Amino acid sequence: ADPRTVVTRFAPSPTGFLHIGNARTALFNWLYARHTGGKFLLRIEDTDRARSTDAAIQAIFDGLRWLGLDWDGDAVFQFSRMDTHAREANRLLDEGKAYRCYMTGEELEAERARARSEGGRVESPWRDRDWREAPAGRPFAVRFRAPRAGETVIRDIVQGEVRIPNTQLDDMVLLRSDGTPTYMLSVVVDDHDMGVTHVVRGDDHLTNAARQMQLIEALGWSVPVYAHIALIHGPDGAKLSKRHGALGVDWYRDQGYLPAAMRNYLARLGWGHGDDEIFTTEQAIAWFDIADLGKSPSRLDFEKMRSVNAHY
Ligand code: GLU
Repeated sequence: ADPRTVVTRFAPSPTGFLHIGNARTALFNWLYARHTGGKFLLRIEDTDRARSTDAAIQAIFDGLRWLGLDWDGDAVFQFSRMDTHAREANRLLDEGKAYRCYMTGEELEAERARARSEGGRVESPWRDRDWREAPAGRPFAVRFRAPRAGETVIRDIVQGEVRIPNTQLDDMVLLRSDGTPTYMLSVVVDDHDMGVTHVVRGDDHLTNAARQMQLIEALGWSVPVYAHIALIHGPDGAKLSKRHGALGVDWYRDQGYLPAAMRNYLARLGWGHGDDEIFTTEQAIAWFDIADLGKSPSRLDFEKMRSVNAHY
């Protein structure tokens, strides 16, 4: 057992409706926090200014409230913390753990093509060059000085030990040439500042976890416990997508599904308590453990959903 107070978070990007897969991620984080007497935090990842909308933020709030997933404290808006994110990148720069990269778009393009044909990482010549040699006034990105050799090992509650050779992880950009922080940096700084101890999210973020771990270690912070859960698939077994319809939480609400039934059904997608199909939310809270999350993708089954709903 982890002696620290558990702090989980749900960190959706407000670029559309509240996706049913994200709702399940939120539910698992919420169940774990409630099971352990910890905290469940909400962070709106609104740094993509072109795609983030107020309507999508509202849909997240409404969807979580409808599902009864109450978060602790106020929601954190990631965009409002940009200066804090940039400050940490500059600290790494001062410590020599990051560097100014003055590659032009063309140079980067050529390097990417080279890496593709020869294999290996995208390399910036500025990793080992003195930035004072750069042409005056040329914009630069801040890149992380990632280890070239060895491997990064993610000890994941669901996936087990995942080893990623560092030759596959290039020097990620922390600050773009316009000074804005990248997603990778923002997530790491926010999780740290919010005191997040457990990161439960979709396994499409597994490679990101390796990069985030490298960054966390360079910043001198402790790595959270990771649980990367298998994505939900459609009834046909294919990754859940637009063509399956029924992606947004509001669709289920409009179809007459009840919040308690949704909590019950969604909890069963990737987690279970023996053969129990029907359980109360109190039971789920009492029984839930991230150690019991399954590794294989689960399928949406509308017939089963309706039958669960009929119990409520
Ligand atoms: N904002 C990311 C997403 O919507 C999640 C980031 C995370 O959980 O670390 O996929």
